[in-house]
Order: sequence, then C-alpha cells, then structure tokens
Amino acid sequence: MIPVVALVGRPNVGKSTLFNRLTKTRDALVADFPGLTRDRKYGHAHYAEQSFIVIDTGGIDGTETGVETHMADQSLLAIEEADVVLFMVDARSGLMPADHLITQHLRERKKPTFVVVNKTDGLDPDVAMSDFYSLGLGDIYPIAAAHGRGVIRLLEDALLPFSEKLQIDAEVAARSEDGESIDENDTLDALLTSSDADTTSELTEEEIEALNAKIAAGEIEEEEETTFNPQTDLPIKIAIIGRPNVGKSTLTNRLLGEDRVIVFDMPGTTRDSIYIPLQKDDRDYVLIDTAGVRKRGKIHEAVEKFSVIKTLQAIEDANVVLLVIDAREGISDQDLSLLGFVLNSGRSLVIVVNKWDGMTQEDREHVKDMLELRLGFVDFARIHFISALHGSGVGKLLGFVNEAYDCSTQRVSTAKLTRIMQMATEDHQPPLIRGRRVKMKYAHAGGYNPPIVVIHGNQVNSLPDSYKRYLMNYFRKSLKVMGSPIRIQFKESE
Ligand code: GDP
Ligand code: GDP
Repeated sequence: MIPVVALVGRPNVGKSTLFNRLTKTRDALVADFPGLTRDRKYGHAHYAEQSFIVIDTGGIDGTETGVETHMADQSLLAIEEADVVLFMVDARSGLMPADHLITQHLRERKKPTFVVVNKTDGLDPDVAMSDFYSLGLGDIYPIAAAHGRGVIRLLEDALLPFSEKLQIDAEVAARSEDGESIDENDTLDALLTSSDADTTSELTEEEIEALNAKIAAGEIEEEEETTFNPQTDLPIKIAIIGRPNVGKSTLTNRLLGEDRVIVFDMPGTTRDSIYIPLQKDDRDYVLIDTAGVRKRGKIHEAVEKFSVIKTLQAIEDANVVLLVIDAREGISDQDLSLLGFVLNSGRSLVIVVNKWDGMTQEDREHVKDMLELRLGFVDFARIHFISALHGSGVGKLLGFVNEAYDCSTQRVSTAKLTRIMQMATEDHQPPLIRGRRVKMKYAHAGGYNPPIVVIHGNQVNSLPDSYKRYLMNYFRKSLKVMGSPIRIQFKESE
C-alpha cells in the first residue's frame, strides 16, 4: 500500500514549500475537498520509484488560545492518517512553545516521526540543529525546502521501510566505503521526476538510420516478444471510486452478481478498501471497493479524511478507475477533485453516471449538457450511463474496462512509434525555435498504464505546449487509445 507522509508543524515553517517541492512531479496536484478537509491538501509524489501521498496541514497556531482545538482540527487528523510524520521546525526562529506541544502529541501517538529543521540555508547546520535535540525525538534532518537541500537524505530515511529499492540501495551504500554525495538539487530534481519507466534508451546515429530504413521499407512490426504479457497474465484491478451515496456499493454488488452480495455498509466504522476477485468471460479482475468519502456531518471527520486516503491509495493501486457520479446530484467540486487525482495518476478511466433510472428525458438532456460542459476536457475517457440498482448498462461496463486496460498496456514497437511521429511532423511541422527547426529523431515506448512515448531529438524540450498537445492527440488517434491518457516525454539528444 502506498505510504502516507504528513507534514506537521507551526505555520510558516515551510510545510507548503516542501509540499510543492515533493508533489511537483505531478503538476503540484492539490485536491481540496470542500467541506471535508478544510485547508488540508493531499498530493501524490514519487521518489526513487516509490510513490507516496503527502498531506500538508494548515499548521498549528502556537501559543495563542485554542491550540488544542487547532491540533484536533488540523494536524491531529493528519497524524492519524499518516504512516510517517515529518515534523517541521524553523531554524531561523528556533524552538517555540508550540513545538513542544506538537512533540508531546507525537509522542503519545507513537507515529514514526522525523524532525525536520528547515531554512538551514546560509546557516551552520550543526548550530541550526542544536536547539532541537532537546525535543528528544531522535535524528534531526536539516533541510532547505526552498532550495531542495537535504531533502533526499530525509526521503531516503523516511521512505526506507516502504521501499525495497531504497533498502537495497542502503545495503549497497553501506558496503561501499565512499558514500557518494547525493545532496545536490539537480540530483533531487532528477530523482523526483524519474518516476516512470525507462526513458533512457538512446540510439546511435547508425541505429536511427537503420530504423528509418526499416520504416521506409514498411517493416513496422512489433518488437521481440516479451515474456510478460499484462493483457493475459494479470488480473485487472478496478478501483470503484466516488463520493458517498453515488452507488459504489450497489455497483460492486451488481458486478459480482446476485449470489455474491456483500454487505459493505458499516456505519461509524472506518471502511478499508476491500479487494474482491471477479472472473468474467475468461478474464480476471479484482474490484477495489473504496470507502469513498463519507457524508458530511454524518460521521466523525477523522473517518471522512481517512477515506480520502483510501480513495487515493485505491487509485494508485488500480489499473482502471471507475469514477461513479450520481446523475441526480450533478457534478460537484468533490467529483472534480477526485477526477483530478485520477488524471494525475495516469490511470485508465471510465466515468460512470449512475442512477440513470427514473429520470425524465428533460432531466437526462440537462445532465448530458452539464457533463459536456464540466467534463469536456477529459477527452480520452468514456462516459457511460447506468442504473446500478436495476442493472441497466452495467453489462457493458467491463467491456469498457477491458478496452481501457488493453489500450493502456499495448506493446508498440519503436519503428511504429517513430513512423507515427514522422507522420505527425509531415502533417504539421514543428515550429522554429531560436531560428532553428525542432528536430525530432525517433520515438520509443517508455512505459505502460499509462502509455509513455519518449521522443528524442534536438530542442524538443522547447516545443510549445500546443504542439505537444497536437502530438499527443496524434498518437492517441493513430494508436486508437481509448480510456487511457497518453504521456509524451522529450529527451534532448546530443
Ligand atoms: P507553511 O506555513 O509551514 O506552509 O510555510 P510556507 O511553506 O508557506 O513558508 C513560509 C515562509 O518560509 C515562506 O516565506 C517561504 O518562502 C519561507 N521558506 C520556506 N522554506 C524555506 C527555506 O528553506 N529557506 C528559507 N530561507 N525560507 C524558506
Ligand atoms: P455508496 O455510498 O457510493 O456505496 O452508495 P450505495 O451503493 O450505498 O448507494 C447509496 C444509495 O443510492 C442507496 O440507497 C442505493 O439504493 C441508491 N442507489 C444506488 N444505485 C442506484 C441507482 O442506480 N438508481 C437509484 N435510483 N438508486 C440507486
């Protein structure tokens, strides 16, 4: 399960700065759940192949009145949700009374805690840290969130228990005498962005020529067989997400069939995601039934927040997400927040509009207009109308899931991707940049679910967004990808 890291501390210590630095790989994704999370932010981040969820809390008000209340409202819940707490303090202001209050609380909760001394830029780290040993919370990590310094060492230790790769790295490092220096900003940036699969394979000029000869000869076939075929070897994991009461449980039961109805609703308890295997037409699925986000005011806030995390974890863990929307409620900001998370995760997506039964034709037209208006920008996902209660439309759903999954995992050869890239540039030349035409040399696959196309060339990083979008749409149409986003990455060649 993807770990949850909470940033806790007084206001102004630099929590948002660190949050933004950690989550920027995914466009500084911030999900605000109005009415549910107040000023809490949730984001996805990646470090050394390990995904994690970061929670940024508003901060604790210090010595003024109502500290306890603020604790309860803000950091307390974040601490509750987290696997690891990064307790941030400010090297410039030194130790403050509120830091002691937070410490006391952390000690009671017994959460793994890392004391992070921020704003150590321009200070002697030893002096900056010395103030905070008296907190008695163990190792202290000096960082400068604004510049990225020290963040790698912090992440490596904080994420160590969750990441096999980091554990192996640590072992290797322990065996080699010379510990290499890693506290460089550019290294951090590189690591934070290297979340997706291999993008490095570089062809020589001769190889590119050979590739082009192959394309010219019309030899565009699939690459060597891979022993692993995700389309047949694995169950498709489907996360069923959505706000409370949109019909997730009803849909889950409907998909499972009459004889396997499971009672999910346990009011007042925290409902973890439940993983349920399902077989249909020779394919294996696992339904991830999320708790969803609980209804406002009904259940204690902690449960609601916890459910946000469960939903995010389910998205990360899924191949295909079914985002369920209640046709009678329309599209809320929460729906859009959830959608934002799915889009940033790169997972395949089917939008399911539920409770389509018993609606007048007029209401249906109205709902469709609104969908067009508010979801029109999600051009890759199918929108499917169902009644989970009566079953209409549900039979087609797994077909769309298969389509989305197959599209997101299809293997496409370098020759074919390069040919598509060439056709795109023939139809519409890339612009001149600083007087020179951008030159795209070849394209290859860099990952799946979502499919990543890596384009190598000169000045490719300078391509305007409009052209990048054009390329993305061109690849989408040519590869007939439906239900999954496509990502394009650019690599400058020498
Ligand atoms: P939050 O209230 O804890 O979220 O704090 P912010 O992230 O908003 O930061 C508060 C202030 O501290 C801002 O003016 C930041 O620019 C500044 N700040 C954050 N990190 C650093 C740092 O590493 N060094 C310095 N000198 N200032 C920082
Ligand atoms: P969840 O909180 O998202 O799991 O939602 P539930 O599956 O518990 O459904 C919430 C309520 O909506 C229940 O009363 C269901 O009977 C009702 N419901 C679910 N699907 C449909 C549907 O397709 N049509 C109608 N009319 N009601 C539905």
